[in-house]
Amino acid sequence: MTENEHDDRILDRLVALTRDLILIPSIPSRPEDRRRCYEFVRNHLEAIENVEVFEYEHHGIPSLVAMPVNVREPEVLMCGHLDVITHPDVYSYRSYIEDGKIYGPGAGDMKGALAIMLEILRDFHTKHPGVSLGLAVTADEETGGKAGIGYLFGNTNLRCGAALIPDGGSLNEITIEEKGILHIKIRCQGRAAHAARPWLGDNPIEKLMDRLSNLQKYFSSFKRDEDHWFPTCSITIIGTENQTINRVPSNCEAICDIRFPSPFTIQEIMDKTREVLGADVEIEVVISAEPTHLSPDPLYQQVTEEITGEPAALVREHGGSDARFIYAGGVPIMMSRPIVGNLHAENEWINIQSMIKYYRIYEKYLTIKLLKKSKS
Ligand SMILES: [Zn+2]
Repeated sequence: MTENEHDDRILDRLVALTRDLILIPSIPSRPEDRRRCYEFVRNHLEAIENVEVFEYEHHGIPSLVAMPVNVREPEVLMCGHLDVITHPDVYSYRSYIEDGKIYGPGAGDMKGALAIMLEILRDFHTKHPGVSLGLAVTADEETGGKAGIGYLFGNTNLRCGAALIPDGGSLNEITIEEKGILHIKIRCQGRAAHAARPWLGDNPIEKLMDRLSNLQKYFSSFKRDEDHWFPTCSITIIGTENQTINRVPSNCEAICDIRFPSPFTIQEIMDKTREVLGADVEIEVVISAEPTHLSPDPLYQQVTEEITGEPAALVREHGGSDARFIYAGGVPIMMSRPIVGNLHAENEWINIQSMIKYYRIYEKYLTIKLLKKSKS
């Protein structure tokens, strides 16, 4: 078989597997489907010889770790998530191929990459029994990762020498740093009244609008250059349970999504946010994560450049990922991914040719790291 034929054969498997995964709407609002997608992945892994599968569940969310038999801390752990974000129309969880891309929800984030990791695991353990390579698959990355990678590393004591996470960067962009995250719920209390006599009440919506505008002013003061590597704050949800037009409600709330780079800390951002919003406003932290440094292995960058024939840039990521839970353990994390686009939209896509390149990057990196070393 020529190398091209070999590539085609792997690609056929990767494309089929990716499309099978896209077909299952593995979203939080459909736990049975999420479970079905999990079972699909588990069945795939159980068919691999020399690999043991450990299953977990936390808050009803399943996750698994596939390890070489008798190994508890692999030298390299690949990490993937099978959950995708929710689209209103459940029938949008379909895929099609056009212009060399697979289109469909989760194609780029990250069912295509998950397919690659499943195939890499199968290939390595079939050819090299006992190779120190594991795979963790979780189902809650899009909703915070706490019950998935957070649980595996925080509660089950999962450890590894290094981690591969195809959930940021691009084929020739390796992520070295991620912003921290603060999702906060802001509540304002007031006093209900008939809207024809507003002086008898205390309108919490007006107070909330006023405080949110102060918060926006504060965060816009960080604005400097076009790279946006400074703290930002987005108001993403705002509302009251009031259903009555002529009534001043007694309370209302908003949710803000704050992102901040190092050296800012959660403490610093929270202190300032509290000060700006004022003491009479309730703040509840929904999700918090410190900024993350990934410290990727230089060999990974070198291999990426060799396989793609192009320079690989080290980049900073505005979004956060599961990496933050692993970084808490201080291990090097390699984060890049195939070429993807329209992430979190219904017409999300993954470039098919970049999938085979990505597969080859993993193959070469893992061969040097896990196989050549032991022979020398
Ligand atoms: Zn993702």
